[in-house]
Amino acid sequence: MPRFLNFSLFVPFHYCKYQVYLSEYLGIKAPASPALVIGRERHEQLEREFLLEAEEVEVPLPELVGRVLEGLEPAFVTREVPLFSRSLMLKGRADEIEVHPDKAVITDDKPRLSEGGASQALAYSLAFKEQFLFPGKIMARVRHRDTLEDLWAEWLNRSHVRRIKKEAAEMHAIAEGREPEPCRNPLKCSKCRYRTVCPAAESKE
Ligand code: SF4
Repeated sequence: MPRFLNFSLFVPFHYCKYQVYLSEYLGIKAPASPALVIGRERHEQLEREFLLEAEEVEVPLPELVGRVLEGLEPAFVTREVPLFSRSLMLKGRADEIEVHPDKAVITDDKPRLSEGGASQALAYSLAFKEQFLFPGKIMARVRHRDTLEDLWAEWLNRSHVRRIKKEAAEMHAIAEGREPEPCRNPLKCSKCRYRTVCPAAESKE
């Protein structure tokens, strides 16, 4: 039985699958880069700003979603929502979810758009659908974490589900020991935060 991995692994998976092998199979953690520290601080800031305006709700989230679907409560937005998907064996926290009676929007805040970021937002969307048995359409969105402008948004569809299931299955295979090809692009290696600990990077220097 594979263990739950984090949704955020889609980003390194798309950058260089070897990063997933290093972190999840070999247990090698890269030093935190300045960009990572800035990203964490920005997420905390967005959370603080949201909480300043937010109303506290006593109702548990699954019940609140059910009440919105029945038209008993208005649409709402909340942040830092724990999600998991048994079909993907992934867990994590979605940056923001917005729930309406007929649709939901699941947002991941990123510094830039990448394929991995889009996969991550799609995977959160599938997890939300599974976890809350949400019957409406679901939009996966990547938003710029500083300007809060949309970078990418698509309605979750069958082809997305096939794509993220395939990618998640490959991430699990790597996490269980299937060694992927390392990156062949020295420029990418030079920007990679694993470069000082990655044996595959040394041969390029
Ligand atoms: S240093 Fe290069 S090969 Fe190693 S994980 Fe980073 S990008 Fe991949």
